[in-house]
Amino acid sequence: MARIILVPIDISDKELTQRVVSHVEAEARIDDAEVHFLTVIPSLPYYASLGMAYTTELPPMDEFKAESATRLKEIAAQFAIPEDRVHFHVKEGSPKDNILELAKTLPAELVIIASHRPDITTYLLGSNAAAVVRHADCSVLVVR
Ligand code: ADP
Repeated sequence: MARIILVPIDISDKELTQRVVSHVEAEARIDDAEVHFLTVIPSLPYYASLGMAYTTELPPMDEFKAESATRLKEIAAQFAIPEDRVHFHVKEGSPKDNILELAKTLPAELVIIASHRPDITTYLLGSNAAAVVRHADCSVLVVR
């Protein structure tokens, strides 16, 4: 079975991706791994917390998903990995839950994740990174 690497990307963040690029490229070269990029769109509780009613004031989720897929592909284009070994996933809900679920179903041999947003220096491990490190069945490379 092919070696599968899962790379969760927060598309609202630019800088973070730069730090993981070289690590993903290096790991992708080992055994010609398949690289799966995933971005998760936070769902309703997030919008509700912003005080938005989700029926009328939000653009349709399909639109969000299409835009997110486009953005994810733009970000992935910065990685030097052969196109036929790159795959994309756009999910909706909790980032950590979706990362863990996809890691299990692929199944991924390795998850490569950044420790936290670069502009947030108050903690060493973000909540999504922490949950993935704690609960994933596979190896997790945390990039600082
Ligand atoms: P912070 O709270 O500082 O943003 P996180 O733990 O959320 O820290 O982010 C660390 C990493 O988790 C990100 O670099 C990314 O790999 C992953 N991640 C976070 N949010 C998402 C998301 N919405 N979709 C996919 N991956 C995400």
